[in-house]
Amino acid sequence: MSEKVARSEELFRHAVELMPGGVNSPVRAFRAVGLTPRFIARGEGAYLYDVDGNRYLDYVLSWGPLIAGHAHPHVVRAVREVLERGTSFGAPTEEEVLLAEEIVRRVPSVEMVRMVNSGTEATMSAVRLARAATGRRRIVKFVGCYHGHADPFLVQAGSGVATLSLPDSPGVPGETAGLTLTAPFNDLAAVEELFRRFGEEIAAVIVEPVAGNMGVVPPVPGFLEGLRRLTREAGALLIFDEVMTGFRVHAASAQGLYGVEPDLTTMGKVIGGGLPVGAYGGRRELLELVAPAGPVYQAGTLSGNPLAMAAGRATLELLDAEAYAYLDRLSARLAEAYREVFARHGVPICVQRVGSMLTPFLAECPVRNFEDARRQDLALFRHLFREMLAEGIYLPASAFEAHFLSLAHTEDDVERTREALERALPRALAQRKREADGSASS
Ligand SMILES: *Cc1c(COP(=O)(O)O)cnc(C)c1O
Repeated sequence: MSEKVARSEELFRHAVELMPGGVNSPVRAFRAVGLTPRFIARGEGAYLYDVDGNRYLDYVLSWGPLIAGHAHPHVVRAVREVLERGTSFGAPTEEEVLLAEEIVRRVPSVEMVRMVNSGTEATMSAVRLARAATGRRRIVKFVGCYHGHADPFLVQAGSGVATLSLPDSPGVPGETAGLTLTAPFNDLAAVEELFRRFGEEIAAVIVEPVAGNMGVVPPVPGFLEGLRRLTREAGALLIFDEVMTGFRVHAASAQGLYGVEPDLTTMGKVIGGGLPVGAYGGRRELLELVAPAGPVYQAGTLSGNPLAMAAGRATLELLDAEAYAYLDRLSARLAEAYREVFARHGVPICVQRVGSMLTPFLAECPVRNFEDARRQDLALFRHLFREMLAEGIYLPASAFEAHFLSLAHTEDDVERTREALERALPRALAQRKREADGSASS
């Protein structure tokens, strides 16, 4: 099977002249897989349609938000209804109250919430609030966890032991990056060591309660509980970055699934139903420090935008117990399909899944942290991605991302994916071998 890509190629050539790398967010450029990105014309349910008329079964779902699938009629109706009354007022609306109420009702640790426009804004504001509330400067993050692109989070550690970090990106001052301490995910002893050395200076520990941005890595038993205990003992705050996991893995988010309550929670993705939204929330006495209730400044011209609020609320309305059970069942089948096909070909795979997010790591199990995730067969990933795309299956174009499923995906879709995998894997293996032989002989 081969797709036409002429129109995508033409648009991309033009886009590269106009925008850095031709895109507005790096992973869209398909660099890790060496292809021209597909320009999308529309989405419907579990499917994407590109500008050349190709149809793809979508496991990216805009990188997580579209848990109801593309253009779900209930979401479209809700957005259209508010759209016709005007798009933004710079004044309070009922839609904000309704979404806030819904979030607070579902997540017990969140008593109050502030809406922003992205996950990045949510995490950077939550850290400001944590610093203000504790009067401390340092934060702890985990290697391979992504918290948006604000300066304090663009920090990676050296491998192994926790270290003081250098910035990951030019433009981030060393002074800022130096305030971010890092530890390997799932390594409580490393966090204990940081608290021994810097305890009095640590404002907060921020963590993806299920890591999703190094591929899906669940917390080992006791890890989140340990972070809760250590932060509490040291007078630091615990921030769960649930931008990806919020309302994705459980009705009350990852904190509901694991029964650990953070002080602050950041959200995004699903709560915007595909429109730009982020939020941060937590205990009342903390949120009341935020302006204008308190002195911590944070604002936004389009924050709480009625279109986004309506899309988010309509999406949450679809997420009842039955919806989560369905997503769980379907995702388990997809995980099983990966394991089955790879086992038949004797190729190692480690499929890790929490609810409807999963990553088939091309590595031996277990993957407990970023270092483990990096041991993947990235050449095989690149070929498999290409072959699956040719089969009409749109996977995340990076081995360090999650597959997402939606309410619009069906058992037939998963079966189709299994069949595509069955055809694509041998071709990908053959290509990787040819590539390896070629480089050995040259
Ligand atoms: C996507 C993501 C962010 C950043 O959200 P944006 O809306 O892209 O700014 C932050 N944290 C986590 C855990 C995410 O998955």
